Amino acid sequence: MNEYLKEYGINQEVWNLINDSEKELTAIFKKIDDLAFLNSLNVIRAFKKANVTEACFATSTGYGYNDLGRDTIEKVFKIVLKAEDALVRGQFISGSHALTVALFAFLRPNDTMMSITGEPYDTLHEVIGIKENNSSLKAFGVKYEQVDLKDNDFDYEKIREILTKKKIKLIEIQRSRGYSTRQSLTIDKLEKVIKFIRTIDKEVIIMVDNCYCEFVEDKNPLEVGASVIVGSLIKNLGGGIAPNGAYIAGKKELIELASERLNLPGEGREVGPSLNINKEILLGLYEAPSVVASALKCAILTSHVLEKLGYEVDPKFNEKRADIVETIKFGNPDDLVKYCGGIQAASAIDANALVVPTDMPGYSDQVVMASGSFVQGSSIEISCDGPMRSPYIAYQQGSLTYPYGKIAVMVAVSKILQK
Ligand SMILES: *Cc1c(COP(=O)(O)O)cnc(C)c1O
Repeated sequence: MNEYLKEYGINQEVWNLINDSEKELTAIFKKIDDLAFLNSLNVIRAFKKANVTEACFATSTGYGYNDLGRDTIEKVFKIVLKAEDALVRGQFISGSHALTVALFAFLRPNDTMMSITGEPYDTLHEVIGIKENNSSLKAFGVKYEQVDLKDNDFDYEKIREILTKKKIKLIEIQRSRGYSTRQSLTIDKLEKVIKFIRTIDKEVIIMVDNCYCEFVEDKNPLEVGASVIVGSLIKNLGGGIAPNGAYIAGKKELIELASERLNLPGEGREVGPSLNINKEILLGLYEAPSVVASALKCAILTSHVLEKLGYEVDPKFNEKRADIVETIKFGNPDDLVKYCGGIQAASAIDANALVVPTDMPGYSDQVVMASGSFVQGSSIEISCDGPMRSPYIAYQQGSLTYPYGKIAVMVAVSKILQK
């Protein structure tokens, strides 16, 4: 083993540091295992209730009529997510696309949507029209309001002010932090704000961007009153196995609207060939509770170790989490790039790629990115990135298994300690 560790530049000091941390995290890791048990029970029960059989691995082509596997998958997701209905399709490229379809499905010209978690995820800026685009919601006459978060929680007064003054059709809530420095939003916080919204407006569609949050807690937003949730299959619920896709789950009439927007009015969910991904989606969901648990343990280990090394981390190892993202404030460009280089070097794919900051479409600063994943852009697999601007924060997420995550953290920490 020592030879192998040396190949990766891991010395005794780093080995001890990380194994000592792991020992101190035993009690927290046990809680994560208990959570994985609960979520696994939820999943396996849903497989039985939906009657998943080997016949579901078959596929359809062309129009995709009568696709037993695809329709059964949607039943399984519906049961797991406690939804009235669910749309789970490979025709959704990823989470951003599903969010886009949902917004275009629910909103009409002259409607107003409102984000109550500040600026939405970067990929939605051109969708909404925050950044100009001829095909944006804004170009179709949909208006946009925004309420920023206040001290890591909702700004109740502002929300009340706008809701009582204007007719809002849809409220968007993003749980994960995206590329901001705010904290992720727990189910408790969500429950409180949804109850509050309902005292003012019984009708408004409450849509939750649930990316990165599935199986991190034992409840999902639909259980505390959200109308609809959206998430990516190249993140938590895909378990690292789904090759692409996303889901929309919630109120029946909203799922109907989304299916007619994704496909075409009149045919809706009846069409859409599964093109051989049914088994992968099922296997991915089956493994997702354990995969998310691995990602959480990897984030907690990272938090503990990097804090010991003197870096500011968020969340701290013992803080309640709502998503799988860990941020590390490096304070200098060198350490950020070295750390990402370490994560890349310990990845399964492109381990020998050199990590350098580059310009990226849609970003004002250069971005440094480590992502050696089986599925392109998958961030339930170990990955780490950050914009090249002060205070040089890395956003790390994922790991399909805990040991691979631990190896990656060991290599990354070794890189920053080699001065
Ligand atoms: C990743 C993410 C998305 C987009 O999902 P993709 O599958 O990458 O398109 C949207 N919102 C949030 C908060 C995310 O973290």
